[in-house]
Formats: sequence, C-alpha cells, structure tokens
Amino acid sequence: MNDVVFIFDPELSAYQLADSHPFKPIRLDLTRSLLRETGLLTDDQETRPDPFDERKLSRLHHKAYIRAVKATSKGKSHPDAFGYGLGTGDNPIFPGMHDISTKICAATVTAVDQVASGKARRAANFAGGLHHALSNRASGFCIYNDLALGIDHAIQEYGLRVAYLDIDAHHGDGVQWLFYDSAFVMTISLHESGRYLFPGTGHTYEVGKGPGRGLSVNMPLEPFTEDDSFEEVFELVVPKALEAFRPDLIVLQAGADMHRYDPLADLALSLQAMKASYQRVCELADHLCEGKLVVTGGGGYDPYRTVPRAWAHLWACLNDHAVPEALPESWRQEWQERIPEALPSNSLDDLNSWQAVPRRDEIASHNRVVAERLMSTLVQIWQEDRS
Ligand SMILES: [Zn+2]
Repeated sequence: MNDVVFIFDPELSAYQLADSHPFKPIRLDLTRSLLRETGLLTDDQETRPDPFDERKLSRLHHKAYIRAVKATSKGKSHPDAFGYGLGTGDNPIFPGMHDISTKICAATVTAVDQVASGKARRAANFAGGLHHALSNRASGFCIYNDLALGIDHAIQEYGLRVAYLDIDAHHGDGVQWLFYDSAFVMTISLHESGRYLFPGTGHTYEVGKGPGRGLSVNMPLEPFTEDDSFEEVFELVVPKALEAFRPDLIVLQAGADMHRYDPLADLALSLQAMKASYQRVCELADHLCEGKLVVTGGGGYDPYRTVPRAWAHLWACLNDHAVPEALPESWRQEWQERIPEALPSNSLDDLNSWQAVPRRDEIASHNRVVAERLMSTLVQIWQEDRS
C-alpha cells in the first residue's frame, strides 16, 4: 500500500481555459517537477485516475447543463451557453473542455476512493479543487465540481461523514450550496470577505438549512489579513467545528491564492503561514479521523513563484517531511527559460523584505470579533440540535 498517493495524469495539465487566462496549469508541472527534484515524490506514489463513469456527473449537475458543456466543447453553438456561464471572460469555451473537466473529477474521486477504501492514508490531486462550479452553471474558472463529486462518492460508496475545509482566498460556494441541506457534510470556508471579492458569498449567516443547519461554517476575512490573524481565527474556528462534527474523512481545498503575491485576491499570507495551516490540518485529521485526508489544489494566480512552493509544502506535510530551505538549482534550470519571471531559490518567503500592512491591529481585531461571534452562533445551533 502507498501510504500517501499523488494522483497524476499528464492530461490533467490540459485544463487551459485560454492562453491569456490567469488559471495556468503549468503550475501543476512546476509543482510535480519541484517535488521530483527534491526527492519528496517517488514513482510508486504516482497513481493514475480510475476509469470514471461520466453518468455520475448528473448526480450533482443538471443534465441540460452537461449537454451544453459537451456541445460547446465540440465547437457547436448552444443557445443557452451564456446562461450556463459558458463563453464568458471567466469561463471561456475551449476544445475538449468536457473531457478534461471530467478527467479532473475522475482524479478527485480516485483520491477520495484511495483514502476511503483504506488503500492510502492520504491522497492529493493538485489538478482538482474547482470549488465554484454550480449544479447548473460554470463559475469562477470551474466547469464541473470535482470536490463535490468526490465527497458524494465517499457518502454513497462508503457511508462516510465528510468535513470539507476550504482555505482558498475565495469562498467555496459551489461545494457549500451542493451540500447546504446535507447532514453528511460539514463545509468550512475561510476566505476574503464576499463584500470585497468574488463570488460575494460566504457570510457568517450562511449556516446551512434543514438537516444541514449548523454545518455550513463561513469565516470571512478582511482584505490584507496577515499570518498571525489568519492563524488566530483558524484556531478559533476550525478545530472546534471539526470536533463538533466528528468527520470520517477531511477533504481540504488548498487554493494558494491567499498569498500576498496573488494578483486576484487581497489577503496577505506568507508561505510560512500556509505551511503551518497544512500541518495543522494533518494533525486534525490524525486526531479526528485516523489521518484520513484528501487534498486538492484550487486557485493560485501567482503560478511560478508561489503555487509550486505552496503545494510542495502541502505534499511534504502529507508525507511528514519538509521541503528543503534551498530549492534545487536543477529545478530552476529546467524551467527558467519557459518562465517569464525568476523562479525563487528559497522554499519560504523572506518576511524581512515585506512592508508592514497598515491597519494591521484593526484588521486582526475585526477578524477576531467575527470569528468569536460566528462560533457563539454555531455553538448555540449545535446545542439546540442536541436538546
Ligand atoms: Zn480562489
């Protein structure tokens, strides 16, 4: 048995929405190459996605929407494409869109299956994490919701209760809405507040409904939130929520766009804080669900400097290893000619070179108050349910 599995297929890098699009699959190749060069990823850990019955897509996505994705993928026009979010600036139509989106779903379902079945303790699909895809609409660079399909697989095939944790800078809206009234899934999202950032949701009052009431947990963060404040609210919210739910499996969406360099969001985290959060999630999985943890990628629009280092740290944490401080020269040499900016030489950020964020204390204090109020509301709901 491979203790930790890395889902890999060269086709997964074909999710190129458009040449100039900020979602750049080259970050997957850079990440894998960095892991290979550092010796953190070995041949026997790489696992191909299992065959996937694409009829499973319709468990969560409307059939008419799937038909529209298929038709436009083949270059056919579709009268409702725009209404389905297809052919927009965010979600341009590209050849093979249906097949590659389905492949990404297959990869995440395989990662979940490996862990749920006990074949692996932890698994990663860095091509996955398309958390904005909705039941009947493409949104935020996402066509099909691989995460929700993976979670659904864990419920249907293994009867598991799944905690979904989303630390992408954007709210994990698609996954939240697909399980908003489910008693089997808790969704927890820490993100830049929807007051300022796409998709505009993820407010503290979105707590779930019906059997899922109290199981949607949203922690909106102020723009320019830094490491200390992120770590503080993470500790205030995430362990308590997970302990209240007692999951059998944790699925982590590890979008890397909360980093200070990311051009599409306004959070100001460093790789140091991101690495610490990955370690914490591994600890929580060990403590609460026998280490059963599946991770995916997600956002991350600083594709050369930030994303490969972030996901290398995440993969190293899954393997109980660490990325060396100095990155291999061979990695930089291999890629530098194809990259429009200098690749970093260190695995962590040089925090001394960063300018202080103004209003730091006010931002931290606001985040703390929001987290405390959120938890007091949720604790009340959880207690009502027990009585
Ligand atoms: Zn994002």
